[in-house]
Amino acid sequence: MISAKQVLQENVRLLRTKASKQAIIGTIIALVTVVVATILSAYFSNHYELTLPGIIHAQSTNPVLWLLDTTPFVFGFWGQYTSTIIAYEAGAMVMDQTSDLRTQTVALENRISHESTHDKLTDLPNRVLFVDRLDQALQQAHNEEKPLGVLFLDLDGFKEINDSLGHHSGDRVLKSAASRIRNAVNESVTVARLGGDEFGLIMPRLKKEIDILATVKAIRKALEAPYTLEGISLSLVASIGATIYPVHGRDADTLIQRAEVAMYVAKKDRSGYTLYSPEQDKNSPHRLVLLGELRQAIQRQELTLEYQPIVNARDHSVHGLEALVRWQHERHGLLQPDEFIPLAERSGFIHEITNWVLRHALEDAAAWHQKGMALPVSVNVTAANLLDPEFANTVAALLASFKLPERALTLEMTETTLLNDQERAYETITRLSSLGVRTSIDDFGTGYSSLAYLRKLPVSNIKIDRSFVADLTRDEGGEVLINAIIQLAHALHLHVTAEGVENEHVAERLPLLGCDAMQGYGIGRPMPASEVPAWYAGRQVSDESNPPPQTR
Ligand code: C2E
Ligand code: CA
Ligand code: CA
Repeated sequence: MISAKQVLQENVRLLRTKASKQAIIGTIIALVTVVVATILSAYFSNHYELTLPGIIHAQSTNPVLWLLDTTPFVFGFWGQYTSTIIAYEAGAMVMDQTSDLRTQTVALENRISHESTHDKLTDLPNRVLFVDRLDQALQQAHNEEKPLGVLFLDLDGFKEINDSLGHHSGDRVLKSAASRIRNAVNESVTVARLGGDEFGLIMPRLKKEIDILATVKAIRKALEAPYTLEGISLSLVASIGATIYPVHGRDADTLIQRAEVAMYVAKKDRSGYTLYSPEQDKNSPHRLVLLGELRQAIQRQELTLEYQPIVNARDHSVHGLEALVRWQHERHGLLQPDEFIPLAERSGFIHEITNWVLRHALEDAAAWHQKGMALPVSVNVTAANLLDPEFANTVAALLASFKLPERALTLEMTETTLLNDQERAYETITRLSSLGVRTSIDDFGTGYSSLAYLRKLPVSNIKIDRSFVADLTRDEGGEVLINAIIQLAHALHLHVTAEGVENEHVAERLPLLGCDAMQGYGIGRPMPASEVPAWYAGRQVSDESNPPPQTR
C-alpha cells in the first residue's frame, strides 16, 4: 500500500515538472522589462537612435541591464517555488482531513458493530453474537472431532429483586452477576447475555461432562458471595442447564433450546444444575413453545377457573371466593398458574389473561347472584395491570356489563406489585377504590413494604401469607407475629384474611387473635365453578362480605 506521504511527494513532483501560472507570468513580466530597459538604454545612449549594434552595446556594457537580465530566472524560480509550497500545504491539509475522516468512520463502524453484537448493560456478547460464535465453535468441533458444551443459566428470584428494589438495582445485580460469571470461567469459554436474567456459555474442546460440572460449581460459588444492595444482603443463585455436542444436538438452535429445557428442570427440582436428557422435553413444558401455545389457549378455551372459598373466621360463613386460573394443556395436562403466569408476565400476555379471568369470574359471579348466592369474587392482578391507565375503566365496564355491584369484586395484588411504579399503581388503586371495588394485599409479609406505606394506599384488606400462618402451629413466635400484624392492620382499618389455613388448630386460633377471614385447604380446596352451588348450600353469607365503608 502507498503511504499518504508517498502520494503527497508524488503530487509535488508532478507539480514541479509543470510550470506554474505564477512562474510564467513572472517570467514574461521580467522579460518584457529586460527588453524595454535594453531598448530604452540603447535609444538614449545612442543619441536617440535605435540600432542593433546599439542594443548589443547597451547589453554588453550596462551592469544595470545585467542585473535586470537575471530577473526572468528569479521570477520564474520564485513563482514555481511558491506554488509548490502552496500545493504541498494544501495537499497535506486534504490528506490530514481525509485520514481524520477515515479514523472517525472506522471508529463509528466498530462501535456500531460492537453495539449490535454486545449487550449494553453488561458489555457481554448478545444472543446474535452468541449464536454466531456457537456456529463457528460447532464447525471447529466438527473438524477436530471434539465435543462441545452449551450452558444456559438463569438467575433464581431475579424478578423479585427487580420488582421490589427497582430496575436500577436490578441492573446493578445483573452487571455484577455478569462479571462474576465471566471471571469464574476461563478465557476459552464464551459468556453471553441472552436476555433478561439469562446467560449462555460455550465450552469448546470439552473432555468430559466433569468439565461442565467444574465450571458450574465455579459459577455458583462466584454468584453466592454476598452482595449488598440498598442495605439488604443478597446472595445470587442460578439454575443451569447443559447440552453437549454431538450427543444432544448438532446445530446451535437445538443445543441452546435443549439447554434451556434442562435449565427449567434444574429450576423446578431446585437442583441448580441438570444435563439435558430427551425425557425432559416430554415432561417439562418448554417455555418458548408454551408461550406460543398460551396465546392460543384463550381461543381454544383451554383456560379454566377454580374457586377457593374464603370464610368468616368466627362463624365460617361464606365471605367470598378467590378465582384461580388453570390451563388444561392438551399434552402437559392441567398446568398450575405458577407454571405459566410468570411467563405471561414477562411477555406482556398477562393483560389478555387478566381480562379473561375478570370476564369469566364476573360471569360466574353474576350467575350465582341470579340464583340468590351473593358471592363476591377475588381476582389476582399483577403490576402490569395496575400500570395500565385503562385498567380501572375496563373493570368498571365489565362490572356494568354483568350488572354487578362494585363490591362484588375484590382485586388481589402482591406487595412487590405495588413497589414497581408506586405512583401509577397508586393512581389505579385510588380510581378502583373510588369506584367501590375492593383491593387486597396478597402474600402480605413476604415483600419489603411496611404497613406504614400501605397506610397511604386506599386498600381495604391484607392477606397474611401462608408461610406466617403455617408458623402458627410451629412456635409461639409465629403467634406473636400474626397477632402484631392483625393489631396493626386493624389500627389502620384494614380487614385481615389469613391464607393457607390447613388444619383445625390454626382455624381455631386465628379468630382468637382477631383475624377476620380465613382461606386454605382446611376450609375448602379450589373447586370448579360447577361445584360451588353444592358447596354453598347449607352455608350462609357472612355479613362481613359486605363490611361498612372505610372510615379513614
Ligand atoms: P395466591 O394468590 O397466593 O393463591 C393461593 C394459592 O395457594 C393457590 O395456588 C391455592 O391453591 C394455594 N392454597 C390455598 N390454600 C392452601 C393451603 O391451605 N395450603 C397451601 N400450601 N396452599 C394453599 P394456585 O392456584 O397454584 O395459585 C398460585 C398463585 O398463582 C396464586 O397465589 C396467584 O399469585 C397466582 N394466580 C392464580 N390465578 C391467577 C390469575 O388469575 N391471575 C394472576 N395474575 N395470578 C394468578
Ligand atoms: Ca391471591
Ligand atoms: Ca396469596
